[in-house]
Amino acid sequence: MIVIKTAFETDIAVIGGGASGLAAAVAAGREGGGLSIAVFDAQPRCGRKLLATGNGRCNLTNRAAEPSVYHTDDRQALRRVFSGVNVSDTLTFFENIGLICREEEEGRIYPSCGQASAVLDMLRLELSRLGVAEVCGCRVESIRREGSRFVMQSPLGAITARCVIIACGGRAAPHLGGVDWGYELVRSLGHSSTRVQPSLCPLPVDSPHLSSLKGIRAHAKASLLEGNSPVASDEGEVQFGDKWLSGIVIFQLSSAAAAGIRGECAVELDMLPEKPDQELASLLQARRVLLSHLTLENFLTGVFNKRVGMCLLKQAGLSPLSRPVAGLSDSDLERIAGVIRRWRFPVSGKPSWNSAQVTSGGVPLAEFDGMTMQSRKCRGLFAAGEVLNVDGVCGGFNLQWAWSSGILAGRAAHACAASQSAGQ
Ligand SMILES: Cc1cc2nc3c(=O)[nH]c(=O)nc-3n(C[C@H](O)[C@H](O)[C@H](O)COP(=O)(O)OP(=O)(O)OC[C@H]3O[C@@H](n4cnc5c(N)ncnc54)[C@H](O)[C@@H]3O)c2cc1C
Repeated sequence: MIVIKTAFETDIAVIGGGASGLAAAVAAGREGGGLSIAVFDAQPRCGRKLLATGNGRCNLTNRAAEPSVYHTDDRQALRRVFSGVNVSDTLTFFENIGLICREEEEGRIYPSCGQASAVLDMLRLELSRLGVAEVCGCRVESIRREGSRFVMQSPLGAITARCVIIACGGRAAPHLGGVDWGYELVRSLGHSSTRVQPSLCPLPVDSPHLSSLKGIRAHAKASLLEGNSPVASDEGEVQFGDKWLSGIVIFQLSSAAAAGIRGECAVELDMLPEKPDQELASLLQARRVLLSHLTLENFLTGVFNKRVGMCLLKQAGLSPLSRPVAGLSDSDLERIAGVIRRWRFPVSGKPSWNSAQVTSGGVPLAEFDGMTMQSRKCRGLFAAGEVLNVDGVCGGFNLQWAWSSGILAGRAAHACAASQSAGQ
C-alpha cells in the first residue's frame, strides 16, 4: 500500500478501483508515453465487488450486450460507447492481458478457469507491469478544479491530477463497497444526478402463503404488472422467500420496476407456462378422475412441489384440503387453472440496497461525451461504470458497460493528459 505523506501528484487519477476503474487504468497505461497513473480506492483492496460477481465465477460479458438492452437517459451516447468498445473488443482487451474466456448458455461469457479472482488478478498484474499505482484504503472525499489541475482531498493527504476518471460505482451492495460518494464528487464539479434505485434484486411481496413456501424453487413464467398491465416478463426458476420472491427471473423484473414503475405493481406467476389453457383444463379434469380416491391435499402433488400445490388450491379458495378430489366441480377446476396461470403477489415495498446487484439511475449519461466519456461540463473530467445512469439485466451486461465505458475513459483521459503535458 502506498502512504501519501505530502501532496500526491499524478497525471491521471482514477477514483474507484472496481471493474470500470481498473479497466480505465489498464487502458490508459497501455497507451504508453510515460504518464503517471494512480487508482485510488476506499476499500483495503481493489475489486472487492468483482470477486463476488457471477457467484464467484464472474459473468464478465454477454454476446448479446448492445445498447438496446440497457436502461439509460441517452441511448445515442450509449451507442457511441458500444461502437467504441463492443463485446469482441472487450474479449480482445482481456486476451491481451492474458485472460481467456468461454461462452456458456444464453451468450454468457466467463473466464475459462471459472474464477472471478482470475479477472481481478490479470487486471492487477497488468497494472503492476504498466507501473500504475494502486492506492487502497483511500477515500477521495472532495474534488475541485484549481487552474488546469484537479485537487482532491483524502485522509492520506491531498492529491493533484491533470485528468480524473470517476469510477466510483453506485449504491448497490454496500457490504461489497457500494457507496453514493461518486454522485457527490461529480455534483461538486457541476453535474447532476437522478434518483437512484436498487435493481437486480429480490422483490418484497405480500402473500399469506409465503411462510409455507420459504426455500422452495419452482419453474415459472413471471410477469411484472403495473395495475393490470404486464410491463416485463421472463421465464425460469423462481425462489420463494418468507417475504420476497427471488431468482434470476425476478431480478430481471426488478430491473424493469426500478427503471420505470412508480405506482402499485405485482408479480404474477404462470406456474405451467408450457401448457396451453386447453391442455391445462384437460390435465385437471383427468386428475379429478385419476385421483378421485384422494383428498385435495394431494390433488396437485406430482405436478408441483407438494407445498406449492397446496398453496395454489388454498389461493383458489378450496380450503379445507381434507375434502375429496371427487367432489371438485367444473368451476372449482376453472378456479384452480386460473390460479396456476395467474398467481398474483402484490409488491409490498422497496427492494433493499443490500440485496441489489446494481444501481438504477445515477449521473446522466447525456452529460458525458459517448466517444470519450469526457464531461461536457468540466474538461479533463471523465466517468465510467455504474456511477452513470446506465444499467442492464442479469447476464454479464453490467460488467460489459463497466469495461466499455472504462476502456474509453482510460484512453481518452490519457490523450487529454498527454496533450496538457505537451502544452506545458
Ligand atoms: C453480488 C453481485 C454479483 C454481480 N454479478 C455480476 C455478474 O456476474 N455480471 C455482471 O455483468 N455484473 C454483475 N454484478 C454487477 C457488477 O459487479 C457492477 O455493475 C460493476 O462492478 C460496476 O463496476 P464499477 O467499476 O462501476 O463499480 P464497483 O465495481 O462498485 O467499483 C467502485 C469502486 O469505487 C470505490 N469508491 C467509491 N467511491 C470512492 C471514493 N470516493 N474514493 C475512493 N474509492 C471509491 C469503491 O470502493 C469500489 O471499489 C454483480 C454485482 C453484485 C453486487
